[in-house]
Amino acid sequence: MKNILLLGATGSIGKSVLSVINENQSKLNLFGISLNNNLNTANKIIDDFNPSFIHIEDKDTFDNQKASKEIIYLNGDEELKDLINHQDVDIIISAISGFAGLKATHLAASSGKKILLANKESIVAGGDLILPLAKENNSEIIPIDSEHNAIFQCLSGEKGVDDVQRVTITASGGPFINKKLSDLKNVRKSDALNHPNWKMGSKISIDSATLVNKCLELIEAKYLFDLNEKYFDLVVHPQSIIHSIVTYVDGSSICQLSKPDMRIPIAHALSNENRLNINFDSIDFTNLELSFQEFPSDRMVIQDIAREVCNNGGLLGTIFNAANEIAVENFLNEQINFDEIYEVIYRTFDKNNMSNDLSLESINEVDMLTRIEAQKVVKSIA
Ligand code: NDP
Ligand code: MG
Repeated sequence: MKNILLLGATGSIGKSVLSVINENQSKLNLFGISLNNNLNTANKIIDDFNPSFIHIEDKDTFDNQKASKEIIYLNGDEELKDLINHQDVDIIISAISGFAGLKATHLAASSGKKILLANKESIVAGGDLILPLAKENNSEIIPIDSEHNAIFQCLSGEKGVDDVQRVTITASGGPFINKKLSDLKNVRKSDALNHPNWKMGSKISIDSATLVNKCLELIEAKYLFDLNEKYFDLVVHPQSIIHSIVTYVDGSSICQLSKPDMRIPIAHALSNENRLNINFDSIDFTNLELSFQEFPSDRMVIQDIAREVCNNGGLLGTIFNAANEIAVENFLNEQINFDEIYEVIYRTFDKNNMSNDLSLESINEVDMLTRIEAQKVVKSIA
């Protein structure tokens, strides 16, 4: 039996993880969960899974919850640290959304435990800190972002990445893939949130619509697989069946296929020696049409920025990530138009100050300063 600590349990990834645990109760136990303030969903999880510990980030929510004898409620950074390091926790799932997940991912990286990583923003913003820390502490990181899990599966059984010639990261392209950027000025929030293949949290849904998600994933892949950005191609594959492709120097390309369902990479990452059984929707290979197209040329600037982040590292990813989070937040609050998300990122990124001090404190500080700069850009265009 493996004890799981699910950080961000009340979100979309959390829901998929809970479904896999539910189908594998003889192997997996929900030991603890964390959330920000969504007590309604947390209470349902408590009823269904009976975890021993609940960490609530939001202090007011924590103060207002009804204590129960069987469950230990926690709040604050020290208690989060104690929970992550609890001797009975075997697997930590990092599924908080956005930069807010960095604190927990950082703690997990020093815990020496197995980390299943969904929270890509913590790697984008702090990859140069998190990856060495995880290595130093023998904390194994297994990706559950579908593309990275696919690459991980394609690399398994190989001797590292020495024989890799190319890695093709696929992108669904989101709801607007066949539109020009110039036609997207007045798209509605509800259309941008309406992803054709995946049902996800609102932040990543907007990232998918802008294709910034793929750029964050390029940076995430560079760190997780320790490969130069030159090895990665970003290719649009609207059906979301092939989740990524690894081509080796001998000409073989290996890919991973499944219907778009996050429970599949999660089940893989949670498997031990044997794969876990889950109910899934099979691919009908006799009726399968797969197509691919180039990354849209009118959004290449954003890919170029991501490649610059990969090449320079340090705190540049913190800046890129924070500028995007502010832009997305303001789009979701209907303060800026869809196309202005890019403007906020470009103009904020241009003003960045590079520093090479790599600590959690410096990342938090640069994140905060970038948010202030990005908010100024929003004000100038809103
Ligand atoms: P959601 O918005 O659905 O869920 C976010 C979770 O994080 C919730 O449990 C939320 O708690 C919690 N949370 C938010 N802010 C804080 C905070 N400050 N402190 C502690 N907890 C917080 O996001 P998703 O599940 O869609 O995404 C989670 C991560 O996984 C993201 O990094 C995303 O990029 C990545 N990912 C998601 C995929 C998907 O299919 N959804 C696919 C691949 C990667 P509460 O409910 O209380 O607000
Ligand atoms: Mg992904």
